[in-house]
Amino acid sequence: MIGSYPTVARFIQAEAPDAPVHLLRPHRLARAARDFIDGFPGDTLFAVKCNAHPLVLRTLWDEGIRHFDVASPVEIGRVAETLPGAAMFYHHPAKTPGQIALAWDRGVRHFAVDCPAELEKVADRTGPAMVPVVRLAIPKGSGAVYDLSTKFGATPEVFIATLGRAAAMGFRPAVTFHVGSQCLDPAAFRLGLGMAVELTGRAGVAVELIDVGGGFPAYYRATRAPPLAEYFRVIRQAHAELTAPLGIRLACEPGRALVAEGGSLLVRVVLRKPDAVHLNDGIFGGLTETYWGKDELLLPLRVISADGSPRTGAPRDLTAYGPTCDGNDVLPWPVSLPDDTVTGDYIEFNLIGAYGREMAASYNGMRSDAVAVIETDFAGHLCAEAMESGRRTPRLEVL
Ligand SMILES: *Cc1c(COP(=O)(O)O)cnc(C)c1O
Repeated sequence: MIGSYPTVARFIQAEAPDAPVHLLRPHRLARAARDFIDGFPGDTLFAVKCNAHPLVLRTLWDEGIRHFDVASPVEIGRVAETLPGAAMFYHHPAKTPGQIALAWDRGVRHFAVDCPAELEKVADRTGPAMVPVVRLAIPKGSGAVYDLSTKFGATPEVFIATLGRAAAMGFRPAVTFHVGSQCLDPAAFRLGLGMAVELTGRAGVAVELIDVGGGFPAYYRATRAPPLAEYFRVIRQAHAELTAPLGIRLACEPGRALVAEGGSLLVRVVLRKPDAVHLNDGIFGGLTETYWGKDELLLPLRVISADGSPRTGAPRDLTAYGPTCDGNDVLPWPVSLPDDTVTGDYIEFNLIGAYGREMAASYNGMRSDAVAVIETDFAGHLCAEAMESGRRTPRLEVL
């Protein structure tokens, strides 16, 4: 059982943690799940790689999420053990025969493929109830921070060939694509749906399901994207015009937008220097994604002293070093901290619920798996308001 605390201050007073701690806010996870269930015109799958903590899986399930996008035997095991009734979709387009057989045995029926060779490989280890989910690559420039169509996804020609082969083998294929993670332009989803419909038509293969993937944004400090409701509006309209008339159902598989707000990271200042802080976590730990996302992923943060009171000094930009002995272990942006921040203080980085704990390595033996539950929203100052408004009308907020 994980400890649960009304506020982060109370947690610090009770535990004075020396190692980094991932704080989960189940009430925010539940709210994000509800947003998708109410707003998206189809099933919502959770992309498990964002956060596979059992409490996260269970909270989403309790709120009505029944489908899970998994990509490895470990993720399959985690979902199967935590949520025995869950439907799993193996949406990794390059799998080993052993992984395919294991997934089939554990009840997985949907398998992503992006070429005829993978389709044959999956078909060899499964049965007639298998549903090939053919992944289409979406052209670059669709408004996302990360491109997810360079490594996976079929070109139009290969897509048509794979769909045709699947139909010839007697399968009823489905289709998927991914517009790229942290997609800032809802129009990318319409573009993807339009491409998928046109190409399935050219292939002459009827599909019943198109999974529009993930990519829905979280609202980091510099994010300029329309609110989530606008994504749902664009997709609902595209569905009404393009897919519903053909009897095609939709699904989506968000990761980031479902869980980013549900987690923060509490780190400790190991050493304050005049122009820098050494922290007990960094880009090889829970803050790995900031290395890749750079300024796009500027995190809301606040400083709390060891007695639980907030630091409120004038903001000052400091270099933030991580704990390993590696010279590269420094955050990609200076952190703006109150100038009265001292050794022993805590910094809470918000919006770490997606791609936080999951990406952490154990370099220098410094991985921390500690988790605690916090029952209230992040902050109670500017940042909370920024995040709150971010869901509706995002804007840049500076501490
Ligand atoms: C990572 C991933 C997702 C989730 O993407 P987000 O941008 O976090 O929503 C969904 N589907 C697949 C296949 C993925 O690899």
